[in-house]
Amino acid sequence: MGTFEMKNPGDQPVWVNTDNCKACDICVSVCPSGVLAMRYEVKSTLGAMISVEHPEACIGCNECELSCPDFAIYVADKQEYKASGFSFAKLTDDAKARQEAIKANNYYSIEQGAR
Ligand code: SF4
Ligand code: SF4
Repeated sequence: MGTFEMKNPGDQPVWVNTDNCKACDICVSVCPSGVLAMRYEVKSTLGAMISVEHPEACIGCNECELSCPDFAIYVADKQEYKASGFSFAKLTDDAKARQEAIKANNYYSIEQGAR
């Protein structure tokens, strides 16, 4: 099990410890709501990095956190998040369609502009 729990930065439903992320894209593949995507990252030795593209669409399902082999992605605790005045989104058709588009793009961002 992980030995390091990263603290919620505050108002975010899902966040990443990029030091631990191996850019494997598993979390992107399991997200139902098109929240996550890989981005090309020239500064990373991995050539890519995970990006939380649509935090507002996170439904709090925990799939990303549960499937990450490197304990690099975290989802806010439902009760704590609610107590802080926030709530997770509902799964929408738009979000599902975005997830399909990300999947069809090999889990890379469909929003990253050309360099
Ligand atoms: S908690 Fe669920 S909806 Fe939110 S980013 Fe993770 S997999 Fe996607
Ligand atoms: S599953 Fe974990 S290690 Fe893989 S891309 Fe997502 S956050 Fe990074």
